Amino acid sequence: MIKKKICMLGVFAVGKTSLVQRFVKSIFSDKYLTTVGVKIDKKTLDLNGATVDLMLWDLQGEDEFQELQVSYLRGTSGYFLVADGTRAFSFDRAMLLKERVDKVVGDVPFVILINKADLTDQWELEDQKVDEVLARNWHVMKTSAKTGENVENAFKT
Ligand code: GDP
Ligand code: MG
Repeated sequence: MIKKKICMLGVFAVGKTSLVQRFVKSIFSDKYLTTVGVKIDKKTLDLNGATVDLMLWDLQGEDEFQELQVSYLRGTSGYFLVADGTRAFSFDRAMLLKERVDKVVGDVPFVILINKADLTDQWELEDQKVDEVLARNWHVMKTSAKTGENVENAFKT
């Protein structure tokens, strides 16, 4: 049995909790409930014949009052940097977060998720910013926890 710890990182309300709920329970809610501290969910995946237990650590989002508890990051096999396409600052903050996370966890795989892909009419994030990270050969995916678009794909990646 392969067990992997994966952390969900990003500022408040980008959709970290919603992505995990969509992936683990196939549900979506419009309500916003702040995650306090950390919530851990498990989902077992079959990846090319191997059984993989993903332990998904849904961390409290950062804001001006709450600092990321870096101790939660220890031992993580990988992480998601989640941004909200309708709030461009959340993408910049995700990039800053990456620098801090790297200092704690070192060089582990990560995927950037630009969430709320269903809200195209409210989209703020410029393609140029996305192109910049693509040019560094980083994984970037557009997801929607609401419609489920790319969610399964993201966690498999
Ligand atoms: P977190 O603070 O990063 O865990 O964010 P939440 O998962 O709690 O989501 C914050 C708010 O955004 C909630 O009201 C969700 O219903 C909403 N939300 C999350 N993902 C999506 C999405 O893909 N599309 C839309 N339209 N709303 C979303
Ligand atoms: Mg949350």
